[in-house]
Amino acid sequence: MRYVSTRGTGTGISLSEAITAGLADDGGLFVPEKFPRVAAGAIVSSPLSRTALHVLEPFFEGDPLANELEAIAGAAFDFPAPVTRVQGARVDVLELFHGPTAAFKDFGARFLAACMTRIERGAAPPLTILVATSGDTGGAVAAAFHRQPGIQVVILFPKGRVSPRQEHQLTCWDTNVSALAVRGSFDDCQELVKAAFQDASLRETCRLSSANSINIGRLLPQTVYYSAASLQVWERTGEPASFIVPSGNLGNATACLWAREIGMPIEHVVLAHNANRTVPDFLDSGSWRPRASVATLASAMDVGDPSNMERLRARYPDLDSLRAGISAAWVTDAEISQRIAADFRAYGRTWCPHTATAAEVFARMPSTQRRAANWVLVSTAHPAKFAEIVERLTGRDVPMPPALASLLRRPRRHVEIESTFRALAGYLQEKCSSH
Ligand SMILES: *Cc1c(COP(=O)(O)O)cnc(C)c1O
Repeated sequence: MRYVSTRGTGTGISLSEAITAGLADDGGLFVPEKFPRVAAGAIVSSPLSRTALHVLEPFFEGDPLANELEAIAGAAFDFPAPVTRVQGARVDVLELFHGPTAAFKDFGARFLAACMTRIERGAAPPLTILVATSGDTGGAVAAAFHRQPGIQVVILFPKGRVSPRQEHQLTCWDTNVSALAVRGSFDDCQELVKAAFQDASLRETCRLSSANSINIGRLLPQTVYYSAASLQVWERTGEPASFIVPSGNLGNATACLWAREIGMPIEHVVLAHNANRTVPDFLDSGSWRPRASVATLASAMDVGDPSNMERLRARYPDLDSLRAGISAAWVTDAEISQRIAADFRAYGRTWCPHTATAAEVFARMPSTQRRAANWVLVSTAHPAKFAEIVERLTGRDVPMPPALASLLRRPRRHVEIESTFRALAGYLQEKCSSH
């Protein structure tokens, strides 16, 4: 299997090369040159790691990592993604928050880490992964790479602008993971990372890489839980599943479409956005107008120019085929709040603000549409991560999942830097030359 750029130049490279490169030379994103058909029958009711092996095998064909896929899948898929029924409503929930940082990004980050440590084995000097984060990504990447050999991680976050629990998850690491509190905004952090990648003299000392959500090594593993969940619905009902996916950068939604592409029993895919409505507006109007993001309660979805749109448009080049493939809706903060309160009262279920966008899109459907498919709400994070929002709406404490509780007991440490390239470069020069 070769991986080609969405911009259609170049002849394609191996999966390992695509994971290492992150972005194609022409600025496009990597996609598989073709989608294999995966026989689903063999993996009904398998553990997730076995489903992963079966679903991902064709994507690793011919790659140096192919022989290690079983070990990679075992390391990355060591926590479940259960489908649970909402009692009293005709809907299921795909729970993606049972990993170490209680959000779906754990799947992609852990799979990427398992691949990268194997690709890097024996390479010197160690690879330095730079991550700018506004919250969830940094924690998942840190947890995934913590104490992995041959790789160090440096996280940049905007000082004082992430929630206390998020900050704890970014700063509770030791050995190969360090956190920099930048005196500036998230955009400043991103600019600093970009500047580091472009600085020739810094790159002489440091081998830099990213673990960004556009990396194909984060996307492919996300097809696995959609495969497993759709087969579970199929087994129970004899019909395909339809997913409502809380969406920001569209990585999770793209993975759902790819699972359908390889032959999994998936019917509708509906994207639920917050007030960052670039995608729903595009499907309505046909004109693509990326814009600056606006802050919402579902902050991990505050994206005004979703990068994976490029993958969707490469797959569905004209508007009609795109509209046939997906639909999209958006939800205000007031609706997110009302939905969390209402569904807690009606069903005793507590949604995180991101999951609540999907619950709202479902609740809004006419009842004929709700009954016409086996709808599955994709739950992207545990509500305890957003306790300060959720608890005032439900009037109850949200119990903390044990993995998250144990992270929040770890001691914290970080280094504070000015928001200047000089400050970052100085820090990195020292970090990289001490090896
Ligand atoms: C990142 C994130 C999203 C958005 O996922 P994309 O793949 O960027 O569309 C939704 N919910 C949570 C909790 C997230 O962390």
